[in-house]
Amino acid sequence: MTDLGPSQTAEMTRPPAIARFTVFVRARVRERWEIARELPNSGTGLTVAAVVLNIALGVLPVLFILGTSFMLGRVPAATKGGVGSSAWDSLVYAFLLAAAAFVLLQLLTPLQASLGELITRRVDGKASDRLIGDALRTPGIGPLEDQELLGDLSESADQLEFGFRTPGRACAGLVALIARYLQLAGLLVVVGLVFSWLAAAALFLVTMLFRCGQRGGLRKYSAVFRANVNPRRRNYYFRRVGLDPPAAKELRVFGLAPWVRERYRDSYLEYMVPVWKERRRIYLVPFLLITAFALIVSAGTLAALGHSAAGGSVALRDLALTFQAATAIINLGSHYPESDTQTQFGMLSYAGMLGFERGVEKYEGSTVQLEPVRSPEGLPQDELHFESVSFGYPNSDRAVLKELELAIPAGKSTAIVGLNGAGKTTLVKLLGRLYEPDEGRITTDGIDIRHFRIEDWHRQIGIIFQDFNCYELSAADNIGFGSIPRLNDREAIRETARKAGILEAIERLPKGFDTPLSRQYEGGADLSGGQWQRIAIARALFALEGGASILVLDEPTAALDVRAEAEFFENFVELTRGVTTILISHRFSSVRHADGIVVLQGGRVVEEGTHEELLAAEGRYAKLFQLQAERFARGEEEGEEEDDEL
Ligand code: ADP
Repeated sequence: MTDLGPSQTAEMTRPPAIARFTVFVRARVRERWEIARELPNSGTGLTVAAVVLNIALGVLPVLFILGTSFMLGRVPAATKGGVGSSAWDSLVYAFLLAAAAFVLLQLLTPLQASLGELITRRVDGKASDRLIGDALRTPGIGPLEDQELLGDLSESADQLEFGFRTPGRACAGLVALIARYLQLAGLLVVVGLVFSWLAAAALFLVTMLFRCGQRGGLRKYSAVFRANVNPRRRNYYFRRVGLDPPAAKELRVFGLAPWVRERYRDSYLEYMVPVWKERRRIYLVPFLLITAFALIVSAGTLAALGHSAAGGSVALRDLALTFQAATAIINLGSHYPESDTQTQFGMLSYAGMLGFERGVEKYEGSTVQLEPVRSPEGLPQDELHFESVSFGYPNSDRAVLKELELAIPAGKSTAIVGLNGAGKTTLVKLLGRLYEPDEGRITTDGIDIRHFRIEDWHRQIGIIFQDFNCYELSAADNIGFGSIPRLNDREAIRETARKAGILEAIERLPKGFDTPLSRQYEGGADLSGGQWQRIAIARALFALEGGASILVLDEPTAALDVRAEAEFFENFVELTRGVTTILISHRFSSVRHADGIVVLQGGRVVEEGTHEELLAAEGRYAKLFQLQAERFARGEEEGEEEDDEL
């Protein structure tokens, strides 16, 4: 037996053409079926109306052709018989049929676009709800930090935001196909019955070839478009930077406007040039081939019709009927502007939505609930404890925390310092259960925090992150969000604002606590960076009002200079005496007032003690503290090159 070469083996392992074709057709049908299932979201009444309308738009052109052809066929007899003859009467009836079909078509066609718009809006409204629901579904933050899922999310979210190529548009586009294909079916039956089924089959083949060429090209084109999601996201980002008010100041003072414009153009070309290239390959060659074939078949069919007519075997009526039907069928082998593009790209954005949803589902199971369920109220009395905790982000092989051992005493302030990238924020995310540890556990007074319901635990802990949110809502809401059940307790919010040192500034605002904190709204006002920090601190303090017992500040002060941060931390430590607080900073010199200091490096604790103990130990903390203090005394900020010596 001779050995098979690699190409022969590949040929043998390839599924047969028919099987590949079946898989292909199934995939296309599934895509359309999935999107069609969204249609009822536009409401039963609207769905039925749109379907009925499109059936009418499919039937009316056929009736028009029937009417006009019958009319034409009756002309010789009616002229002979004169007014009042039965031939004359049937000519009039045929005329009335054609006229009614014509008028109805004119009246109903604009409705197709209007109903399509309504369907789009309703389906997209539901799709947006669903997408927001998906984005907020997991207690953990994983899906929103997963590059791949973010690609899927922006694929659908951007389109929904612009109302451009959305699932709703795809639904409307699919419904519009009813009219086209019903018309095609009717016309084919006419040709088959009146002239020849062979001619009908040939015309059907040509039309479908054109359609498959068109739609297949569009599908391949959209796949190239989809594959370039990253440069596209960058392009959208530059558009936002160029248009959004927050960046407007910097763009001007740093002279960044030309740079942004250039990046916008470059990123656009980066994703569009491959698309254009493919367009030539995908559309042009098949188009020429299909057109040549179609020309031959169409010309052949029409020639056969002409030949039969010349031979006298086709009556005038049937000639008119077949000719009109055949040309209308050939016309249907084209791009459908009311359907094709929006259906193809809408399905793409829908696929992005489904991809994001599936990804979210994968993450959903990653939040653990241990039995028996316990209540965290009043905890910790003794300590929070990271017991040999290891963790790496889901899409990375690198361990960020490595068998971390860390005890945080209750009722005291603990500072965690370390260089950028040491794992401080990651530690906070695990404490907030935005991720679960890969190994080890976090306990409070010996109880694994996974025994608490995640929402109970979140009530227990207030965290202000470095990139804390500045909600474009009222000042009261911005503070009240620390404890949703007390959102309307204005007195408590005022008192908290006073403690955080922001009361006067809020009272000076045009509508006091009711002022929207954004100039983009009428009567709104912008706050300074420092004032926003105080608002964030007030939010954390308000969480205490709502029963929280642990507060974490994860460098919301990074924008301040070292002295201001040190003062800020000192105030905060005073304000929260007796509360379990965790202060995170990459500056060694700003947390000296904390009751205890922990130095984190490479995901491990490398030193801990009070400020004095750590200085006396003359280790890393002492070295970095002194270096940063000296630089600060010289009027400089801390520098990474010296950090690297740690
Ligand atoms: P720190 O707060 O000490 O500056 P982080 O905890 O933010 O450090 O980050 C620790 C390491 O984890 C860094 O190398 C960072 O690049 C990586 N990292 C942070 N967030 C993610 C993420 N969502 N996915 C993958 N890696 C991450």
